[in-house]
This record gives sequence, structure tokens and C-alpha cells, in this order.
Amino acid sequence: MLPPLSHRYADLPEHMRAEVRPTPVAKPRLVVFNQPLAEELGFDLAHFDETRAAELFSGNVLPEELKPTAAAYAGHQFGNFVPQLGDGRAVLLGEARNCAGQLRDLQLKGSGRTPFSRGGDGRAPLGPVLREYLVSEAMHALGVPTTRALAAVTTGERIYRRMPEPGAVLTRVASSHLRVGTFQYFAARGDEAALRLLVDEAVARHYPGLAELTSDAQPLALLEVVVERQAALIAKWMSVGFIHGVMNTDNCAIGGETIDYGPCAFMDRYDPQTVFSSIDERGRYAYANQPSMAQWNLTRFAEALLPLMGYDSKKAIADATKVLETFDERYQHHWLNEMRRKLGLMEARDGDAQLAAALLDVMYQGRADFTLTFRHLADAVTTDQQHVLLALFEETHGIETWLTRWRERLAAEQVTPAQIVTRLRAVNPVVIPRNHRVEQAIEAAAERDDFSPFEALLAAIMNPFDEPAGELSYTRPPQEGEQVLRTFCGT
Ligand code: AMP
Ligand code: MG
Repeated sequence: MLPPLSHRYADLPEHMRAEVRPTPVAKPRLVVFNQPLAEELGFDLAHFDETRAAELFSGNVLPEELKPTAAAYAGHQFGNFVPQLGDGRAVLLGEARNCAGQLRDLQLKGSGRTPFSRGGDGRAPLGPVLREYLVSEAMHALGVPTTRALAAVTTGERIYRRMPEPGAVLTRVASSHLRVGTFQYFAARGDEAALRLLVDEAVARHYPGLAELTSDAQPLALLEVVVERQAALIAKWMSVGFIHGVMNTDNCAIGGETIDYGPCAFMDRYDPQTVFSSIDERGRYAYANQPSMAQWNLTRFAEALLPLMGYDSKKAIADATKVLETFDERYQHHWLNEMRRKLGLMEARDGDAQLAAALLDVMYQGRADFTLTFRHLADAVTTDQQHVLLALFEETHGIETWLTRWRERLAAEQVTPAQIVTRLRAVNPVVIPRNHRVEQAIEAAAERDDFSPFEALLAAIMNPFDEPAGELSYTRPPQEGEQVLRTFCGT
């Protein structure tokens, strides 16, 4: 069933990773499988068998020739450097080539202890596995670069967190698992040879255009493309109201994909200070802080690359600083592009950034829902249906004034209202995995072994731009009492 896998990472020198086989689980059961993704990855589904799939995706039965590998990495966690983290509960099975010819990591998460487990049990609870499945697939459907979810199995074992929970294993697909923290691990040990191999791997996997540069020039050029990808990524997060929650450097992928969905969630009512994660007590990773936290992480990445940037360390620092300073402008550029799209604007004009910022302002003042405000702009292109939008606001004076300004700006573009409406609905989602729905789906699965809410929610988020037929509950924000304001890592 598995496609042929390469073992690029497993073939790196021994001190960069550890070969470790998954620890078998008691009773694997396949609870969700992403068939279209499996097809893209070249899985042979002609003789698909659920029992065998469960054995494979739990790690219980793996082909002999695989070299399951746990990667070494370090990371700054909430600002504090931890020199050794690494895959403590995950193994890379190998790399598959997808139908577009790109290599994709296949990783089991929750597959048992590894040499990097420290005190942990190497396992993952079902709740966080389902959260990662839902949110990563939603991000993909929303057009945000992300790792993907291929399968989830329950293990038939209970694991112990705040209380006993069913255990699960997630199969994750990523364009690579190279993290800022991977580079930091070797920089902290003064291991330039390993850093060099990581740069080569990053170039080969993500930035083949850099292969033509001399090896001396590559680290700085790599920093620049990674800065660019992160700026674009965070602008996408902000445009959909996504809050990652744990933007530690070990959770920052240098390929520019969103990775490691822990206590993440989408914002309902717009408030830039929103934090969901129970462990983020000071709001370090609040919605509005995400761009500056990304830049902070990139600065750690630059530091890790410095040893490869030549003998003149002053010049290296100056060059790297110059690149890091471009983050703001790049981010602003991407953010404004996202906002123009969300406002139905095709042309770029002065004042667009202020127009977008003013909408966020009135959203905050009016305590309006972020996703639905953008969605219902389509009803307010002309005045006759604007009450649908206004109903989202606790006080409407601000939004009414803003709408006048927006319509004047729209009038500057030579398009019909109908065209604008179509454009707006194609860009602004109506379905996101709202946190209270995610929690309900998790609770039903984990406490009652009922996966139907999970399946229904998954189906709805796959088409985020289409009104779900007759099913409003996935589009609606939480009512009073339904809100889920805290999320737990559950690691
Ligand atoms: P995360 O919070 O999933 O990003 O994980 C942070 C670090 O803790 C990584 O090095 C993980 O491998 C490790 N870790 C998290 N949960 C466990 C666990 N249950 N057992 C072993 N290691 C873990
Ligand atoms: Mg992590």
C-alpha cells in the first residue's frame, strides 16, 4: 500500500537523528483516512484494507526496508532556549514523491518513545490528534501553506494526561520537517558540518533555485527566502484569524508551512489580543503578536546560520541584520495584498491599508465576528442587503460610516457590483473550524467513541467558501455559553 519511500533524512550522519521503530500499540483502529491525499502521494489503494491500514498507520506493521527516524532539534520555547528537544514522540517513515514530483515527509506522531522523549511517554491523545487533523486540513482548504493529515488511528490504549484519554497516532505529511530549531541544535554545538548538511537539505527540498549559488552565498540567500516565506505565511494566518498558539522556534518550519498544531484556534469575535492556549499566560503568541514573533524566530534562525556566513563575522551580522529588517516590509506587503483581496479590490491604491485597518477597528469596537464580517461584505456592496452585515455589530455607527468609504473606493474600480460579490465570496470563507465545534467533535470522539460530529465538521471545512446546504451550525459563531476560550496542548 505504501508508495516507495526515500530515506534522505535517515541517511544523514548518526548524530543528527536516531533510527527508532515505533512501539506497537494494543489495538489499532483507523478512524479517518485522507484518500485524495493518499492518491496524490502514490499510495496503492486498489486493495485497500482497513485493518492493514490501521497496522501501518499505527506503526505496528512496517515494511522491513523502512528506516524510521527521529530527528534531533532544539528550540526556544516561550523565549527560553532548550538545547535538546527532538522528535520525542514522532518518527519519519521516509519521503514519498507526490504526483507533482515533490518529496513529502511521512511522519507518525504519537508512535512511542524515542531517544528524544525525555520524561514523556511518546504518545499523543486522541483530542489533539483530531484537532491537528481538522485544523491542518481546514488551513489547506483555505489556501494556507500547511502540513497535511493523512490518517488517524486510535491505539486501543489509554494514556494519562489531566485525565485518562484514548491514545492515537496521526500520520502527518510535510514538505519537510526542517525547523528553525533543527539548525539551532547544531549551531549550539558548534557543528558547522551538520549545519552545512541542513542548508543543503533545505535548498534541495525547498529552494532548488539556490543550488546555483556558491556554498558561501547560500546561507544568506536561504535566510532571505525563509524570511519571505514566513512573512507570506503569517499574513495568511492573519487574514483568516488563525492563532497558532505555540510559535516556538521548534515549531517554525523553514519551508514556510504551518506546522505543529497544538492549542491553536481560529478567532471568533475580533480582538487582536486573543489568546487561546492555556500555557500562554502572558499572551506572547496572541493574534496581534504573530508577525513580530515570526521575526523573532527568524532572528534565531539567522544566528544559527552565522557560522556558515564566512570569516568576517561583523560583515555576516550586518548582512543578516539587513535581511531580517526586510521582514516588516515584506509582511506589510503580503498583509495588504490579503486585505485587498478580502475587500474585493483588484487595484492597488493609496489609502487601502488604512481602509483595511479601519474595518478591523470598527469590528473591534462593534464586537463583531471576524470571519462573518468579511463574509458578509458581499451582502453590503449595495445598501439593500446590508442589514445582514450590520446585524453582526453591537453598534453600527462605525461600520455604516466605513461602508460609505469602502463603496467609494469600490467605485474607483470599473467592475459591476455582481462581479465584486462573486470575488468576495470566493475569498472570504464562511466555514472555519470554530473552536467550540472542534471541541464538540473531540469530546464526542474521545468520550463517547462517536466520530460523527468530527466527520460532519471535516466535511464542512473542506469547502470553506460554500454555504453549507441547510446546515448553519458550522457557520455560526458560538452563542453565549458555547464559547471555548482555552485550548490545551495535551502533549
Ligand atoms: P510539541 O509541544 O508537540 O511541539 O513538543 C515539544 C517537544 O516535546 C518536542 O520535542 C516533542 O517531541 C516533545 N514531546 C511532546 N509530547 C511528548 C510526549 N508525550 N512524549 C515525548 N516527547 C514529547
Ligand atoms: Mg513541536
